[in-house]
Amino acid sequence: MTKTTKCPICNNQAKWGYYSGPYGIEEEHVNCQKCGYYYEFAYGNYLEAVRGKEYIWHHTTKYTNPIFKRIKRDLFMARRNWKKLRKNYNKNP
Ligand SMILES: [Zn+2]
Repeated sequence: MTKTTKCPICNNQAKWGYYSGPYGIEEEHVNCQKCGYYYEFAYGNYLEAVRGKEYIWHHTTKYTNPIFKRIKRDLFMARRNWKKLRKNYNKNP
């Protein structure tokens, strides 16, 4: 099944595909062609790519793991850079 979802970085419509089985969502992926954001979940493993950096974790990874702070910070920076880029782009088309 393919739908679209709002990209967490650039707010554009990103491709969103998922497959759900008897236990809920088993596979999910988000792919934004505007800014390159990528997210994937498959059978308990997660992969998130922000600005070319990949983060991989597992559903058993504790929420205190520093990886989540790094992802949050990178998402924040990516959003900020995206806005800056757009501003400059709009100023000088
Ligand atoms: Zn995006």
